[in-house]
Amino acid sequence: MNKNMIQTVKTTLMAVLILTFVSAYAQKTFIHCGNLIDGKSDKIKSQMTVIIENGTIVAVQKGFTPPDAGGQLIDLSNKTVMPGLMDMHVHLEHETNKNRYLERFTLNPADKAFRAYGYARKNLMAGFTTVRDLAGSGVNIALKNAINQGVVEGPRIYTAGRALTITGGHGDPTNGFRLDLMGDPGPEMGIVNGVEDARKAVRQRYKNGADLIKIAATGGVLSVSKDGSGPSFSEEEIQMIVKTASDLGMHVAAHAHGAEGMKRAIRSGVRTIEHGTKMDDEVIALMKQYGTFYVPTVSAGRSVAEYAKIEGYYPPMVRPKALEIGPLIQSTFEKAYKAGVKIAFGTDAAVFPHGENWKEFVYMVEGGMPPMEAIQCATMRAAELLEIDDTLGSVEAGKYADLVAVDQNPLDNIAVMENVTFVMKDGVVYKHL
Ligand SMILES: [Zn+2]
Repeated sequence: MNKNMIQTVKTTLMAVLILTFVSAYAQKTFIHCGNLIDGKSDKIKSQMTVIIENGTIVAVQKGFTPPDAGGQLIDLSNKTVMPGLMDMHVHLEHETNKNRYLERFTLNPADKAFRAYGYARKNLMAGFTTVRDLAGSGVNIALKNAINQGVVEGPRIYTAGRALTITGGHGDPTNGFRLDLMGDPGPEMGIVNGVEDARKAVRQRYKNGADLIKIAATGGVLSVSKDGSGPSFSEEEIQMIVKTASDLGMHVAAHAHGAEGMKRAIRSGVRTIEHGTKMDDEVIALMKQYGTFYVPTVSAGRSVAEYAKIEGYYPPMVRPKALEIGPLIQSTFEKAYKAGVKIAFGTDAAVFPHGENWKEFVYMVEGGMPPMEAIQCATMRAAELLEIDDTLGSVEAGKYADLVAVDQNPLDNIAVMENVTFVMKDGVVYKHL
């Protein structure tokens, strides 16, 4: 270790000691909220006080309660406060750029790790205190652990590790390679052909430290393979994936653009349908019957359609798929919302720059959803999806103190979600402008 590194280690240790000391003697924090959206009520409340102790909300009171002796005041009396936001579809390991397809050959795991930390931090600073990471290379698991251990700052992560697909399917890591480089990746790399592979791949992810399983139930837009929406897994394979995951306490998220793949996935018991682009009436009926969540990712659809207009941004095999599938998601969202499908907020951040997740709120409102409901999709509904609604998703006594704030009332103009000026996670303030 050189001198600088020793100094850094010393400073870090000192910071940890101070934090430990401070938290051991933590007093109550009183937050005065000009407006409060609590995640549950359909009404916004004005002039409220949220009282926090040891990272947990202990009381929510009407009016501005003055802090008691030794208590700390955080004055958000000119802001609208709401629960920490949750994005149910991000990829923390990467972000779109025109060299993305080359990066498979140029980036080391350490490169991905530093980038992933930066992207995670962008999500947190944009107000997303909890995210569901729907697959990468496994760096995402290490990132989650580092954040949970307090080594680096970031949102609370639930990650799938590496996604599951079929040989040649969406996300096969050697799609489009020269024949002698293709190899024959198997369950460890996420390639599943048959029920035995399915069982093994899920158990491997559990062992690696994933929290959930992501499958590509159909083709996809951004992979170098021809078909963007046809079914991939057989129903038997998906059933085995869901059953094995459920035995290990994990749920399954299914990427799907075409209706047949969605039907197989829903009937097999997946928790969520991602994108859901060509959802038909039968899919909608099945989702309602099975209680499947829809995670729309309108942002992904709109951004791939935009990038596809730039000559050379995507490989030739990807471009027509992006132009065809991308623009459809917004109307799918409108249809699903009108039909009463359960919706949770998810963007596919990485397909567009991290931190721009807020745009999804705008698209949801454009699609006919009232702003309050869009915010609930990113708080309480998302917490229900993750089955963490007993501790997160609303501003109530007994829940973890994840709070964010904006300067104007988002019910008047949802676009103010772009400027989150206060972020607290587990009672720790990460941003206060
Ligand atoms: Zn995705």
